[in-house]
Amino acid sequence: MNKLLRSCRRLLSYASVAAHSRSNFGLCAPPSNEKLSLSFRRTFASVESSDNLNNVLPGPCLVFSEDENMLRDTVRKFAQSSIAPKVKDMDEKAETDKELVNQLFANGLMGLEVPVEYGGSGLTFTEACIVIEEIAKVDPAVSVLVDVHNTVVNTAIRKWANPDQKKKWLTALATDTVGSFCLSEAGSGSDAFALKTRASDKGDHFVIDGGKLWISNAMEAGLFIVFANANPEKGHKGITAFIIDSKNPGLTIAKKEDKLGIRASSTCELVFQNAKVPKEDILGEVGTGYKIAIESLNEGRIGIGAQMIGIAQGCFDLIFPYLHERKQFGSRIGDFQGVQFQYAKARVELEAARALVYNAARMNDAGLPIRKEAAFAKYYSAQVAERIASKSIDWAGGMGFVKEFGLEKYYRDVKIGHIYEGTDNIQLQTIAKEMQKEYGFDKK
Ligand SMILES: Cc1cc2nc3c(=O)[nH]c(=O)nc-3n(C[C@H](O)[C@H](O)[C@H](O)COP(=O)(O)OP(=O)(O)OC[C@H]3O[C@@H](n4cnc5c(N)ncnc54)[C@H](O)[C@@H]3O)c2cc1C
Repeated sequence: MNKLLRSCRRLLSYASVAAHSRSNFGLCAPPSNEKLSLSFRRTFASVESSDNLNNVLPGPCLVFSEDENMLRDTVRKFAQSSIAPKVKDMDEKAETDKELVNQLFANGLMGLEVPVEYGGSGLTFTEACIVIEEIAKVDPAVSVLVDVHNTVVNTAIRKWANPDQKKKWLTALATDTVGSFCLSEAGSGSDAFALKTRASDKGDHFVIDGGKLWISNAMEAGLFIVFANANPEKGHKGITAFIIDSKNPGLTIAKKEDKLGIRASSTCELVFQNAKVPKEDILGEVGTGYKIAIESLNEGRIGIGAQMIGIAQGCFDLIFPYLHERKQFGSRIGDFQGVQFQYAKARVELEAARALVYNAARMNDAGLPIRKEAAFAKYYSAQVAERIASKSIDWAGGMGFVKEFGLEKYYRDVKIGHIYEGTDNIQLQTIAKEMQKEYGFDKK
């Protein structure tokens, strides 16, 4: 484990002993120390059906353990000292600072859930969400780099790579290599499996031809997980995931998008021309790519939910002191009942969004199905975060409209929450399908 998280963990092991004796945890409740945390995870690793949960007491999902709170404080300090001073410059230049990426690695923030044996931080998914939320409060663009790398790319390798691939790539991903997840194409966005990128079997290797669009982290990445169809006649069951090194001569990073928000995060078009990929670089099996994509994105969506609540909290943290400094008609703005009712309502919405995110995260750590809960979390937190970013500008008046105050950037950055890792409509479609299943109306 790295310096920052290791020292945090060491502190935790002392601090949490006391908590252990006071606490009685259940389903949503967090673990209070390393030992307890392991047994907690083991309990849930073996849960196969929700019936087995009868033996476990449910607990509040927004009560955080001492480990989790200390992690939050540590990341908050890191974000304030290492990210905050660079936010404006990175946004203007539309670039992530290279030294900052190195610091993210050095502090264990790029191997959050990667096991310690591969040089990772060995944290839970819930802890990964805490990290993403804290970084998003300061810079949503940096948080998406951390989020895609950890909750999508690292997750896919952790879950589907074979032991040799894990040794090679998990170690790299935890220590110095940024990852990208390459599913979307010009003709394949919401219709995510209508891929035109092809993988042709050439005996001991595959050849990839085609193109990808909107690929986050592409400028920084050393590893690309690329989805291509190896058997188009089988439809989505031909989709296969390949691990492709950025040095592959058949891969070109083409256009870099000039975006409304999260400008420091690179989003690029990729072109594959006769890209040779050895068969040992297939992730999972030929034809299992669609499953890898769906399952990785389910976790990714909870991560985006964490990013969104981070943005909403970041807005509150800026606007609330201002509301209590600025006076009109001889009174603090924050004391007008018309304003109080608005911010109180927004706070309730943020709490509800946060509960959806952390409930889904804790369910994921418990090994439970999360398809519907991930959609709830992403859909609702994106709605709430956009409303709070917008209202915060209203509450600040003219000051909200200028770059100097900082709300303007949140307002630009928040919009992406409705789009990537499945648009709002796609989340609603997922929820609707799950409801039809619950009521037995899924078959026509
Ligand atoms: C900044 C950024 C970063 C991204 N990063 C990545 C990445 O790292 N990797 C990756 O693979 N992709 C990435 N994406 C792609 C992203 O996931 C897609 O943009 C998204 O899934 C939507 O696809 P689309 O843009 O083609 O929109 P479309 O699918 O064309 O959708 C347009 C509109 O139609 C609606 N719509 C479509 N189908 C339906 C339907 N059946 N019912 C109702 N409404 C529908 C949508 O909700 C949307 O409002 C990124 C995108 C952006 C903008």
